[in-house]
Amino acid sequence: MVRVYYDADANLEFLKGKKIAVLGYGSQGHAQAQSLRDSGLDVVVGLRKDSARWAKAEADGLQVATVPEACAQADIIQVLLPDEIQGRVYAEEIEPYLADGKALMFSHGFNIHFGQIVPPKYVDVFLVAPKSPGHLVRRMYEEGKGVPGLVAVYQDYTGKAKDLALAYAKGIGCTKAGVFETTFQEETETDLFGEQAVLCGGVSELIKAGFDTLVEAGYAPEMAYFECLHELKLIVDLIYEGGLSRMRYSVSNTAEYGDYMVGPRIITEETREEMRRVLQEIQDGTFARNWMLENQVNAPQLNAIRKMEAEHPIEKVGAELRKMMPWLQKK
Ligand code: NDP
Ligand code: MG
Ligand code: MG
Repeated sequence: MVRVYYDADANLEFLKGKKIAVLGYGSQGHAQAQSLRDSGLDVVVGLRKDSARWAKAEADGLQVATVPEACAQADIIQVLLPDEIQGRVYAEEIEPYLADGKALMFSHGFNIHFGQIVPPKYVDVFLVAPKSPGHLVRRMYEEGKGVPGLVAVYQDYTGKAKDLALAYAKGIGCTKAGVFETTFQEETETDLFGEQAVLCGGVSELIKAGFDTLVEAGYAPEMAYFECLHELKLIVDLIYEGGLSRMRYSVSNTAEYGDYMVGPRIITEETREEMRRVLQEIQDGTFARNWMLENQVNAPQLNAIRKMEAEHPIEKVGAELRKMMPWLQKK
């Protein structure tokens, strides 16, 4: 069984009197930095001088410094920068400021697991990863609750790495919900597999395939959009709240019967075999290598596919239909 830690297993005292640098003020950075501060901890946010978020972090009442300045001051350095740039920023702006007994931490294991960051022996290295987008991390904290999280220790130099990780998890509210113990390897590989095979890659392709099939057969793109994309949220909300059985209880018997009859014809043994190959390419570093190489040449494939995907008819019809949905128009 996976070990789960709660508030009583974590002690903020391990972080008292220490300075925590939170590098980045994006989705995770803004949530973690503010919640740590509200937990009575000493936080400095590390950003680029020209970052548009510098003023935002200051307006939120936080101390802000450049990445090197923040790392120089800090005992604990939480790296919440985009994964693909962490290796470079680490080499230039973080590593020079690591000293004996400091801690280096992450919310995703990618750079450590795939050797893009090789920390010196004389620091603790651990991971605290909320299992949720930053905005929900922050909202739950403000409501006196928390989101579930993961902790993993990669390197325990001081003998206190786990205590520090659990204290940090408490500082952002995660021990209120429960914190699961994992490893950098498991967190990294399952995260990449989930987003590729199911959450992002699998779902996007399933939506487009359904939409294209209806449109090619002569049905109105608007109808295809509602059936294959729009309604997905209603279904996912039910699954999220009560599992597959809640969703199947809530839909009509006709829909439930169709689900059982057709699902396995769409996700076939061939699909499952391909999923195993995808996992293999994550495990053996093929995906990581391709993604790192892609970034070294300024991401031509990412940019080209992004453009092509934005041209897909489902995006055109969707943009029009969403104008009819007033509740979506805030952003
Ligand atoms: P974002 O893209 O939302 O934010 C990145 C931040 O890094 C921004 O504040 C950006 O500021 C700053 N930044 C970018 N480049 C530099 C640079 N060269 N020097 C200094 N600052 C820089 O990232 P996320 O919060 O999504 O991700 C951070 C980490 O958290 C990743 O490891 C990710 O895998 C992990 N994670 C993310 C989750 C999520 O919900 N998003 C969930 C769990 C883990 P600016 O551009 O203004 O300079
Ligand atoms: Mg991910
Ligand atoms: Mg329907």
